[in-house]
Amino acid sequence: MLNIVLLGAPGAGKGTQAARLVEKYKLVHLSTGDMLRDEIARCSKHGIIAKQLINSGQLVPDSMVASMIAEKIKAHRASNGFIFDGFPRTIPQAEMLDSMLPEHGLCVTGMVALSAPEDELVRRLLSRGKCSGRADDQNEEIIRNRIAVYHEKTAPLVGYYAAQGKHVSAKGVGSVEEIFLTLCSAIDKFKQHGEL
Ligand code: ADP
Repeated sequence: MLNIVLLGAPGAGKGTQAARLVEKYKLVHLSTGDMLRDEIARCSKHGIIAKQLINSGQLVPDSMVASMIAEKIKAHRASNGFIFDGFPRTIPQAEMLDSMLPEHGLCVTGMVALSAPEDELVRRLLSRGKCSGRADDQNEEIIRNRIAVYHEKTAPLVGYYAAQGKHVSAKGVGSVEEIFLTLCSAIDKFKQHGEL
């Protein structure tokens, strides 16, 4: 199985690229942002807690996203693999993922980090906010706070995966197709490495 973690600040293009990668490699797309928005729409217990945090640009508790992910892994155990989009977002989440995957005989194959300059991220998110209606994409202060949270809590995952020899970085600027090809070549290398 191919289990890829897509890392990147809000607006780096994780969702766009994940959709294409899922199709090419026949993987299951696990986006914790999408799962949380679904919980909010259903006014579930998780949704009620998540709504305030998401709209103010903060992360939801590690245990909440980890339990959602664990359920999905169990449900899609027989798939070709997973694209983790927006998870893990903290070191404890990465540790939880590393402890839950072996229960199913799996592990993270590799992590690709997409990067883009902060002003570009802000521009993309404000423009996404106009169509998506996402409250967290409409206010520049909240967007900058999300980017700051990314640097503080999520960026350390680069070191975490690099220490396992599983990190590749990719530029998230250029055409969607160019970025996609860069990601595919990183993933193909991970695959070859896994098959050696
Ligand atoms: P983006 O990457 O554009 O910020 P997402 O859809 O991945 O969008 O996430 C939206 C929000 O959902 C995040 O700002 C955060 O509040 C919450 N969230 C998503 N994934 C996680 C996670 N793994 N851990 C904690 N909070 C999360």
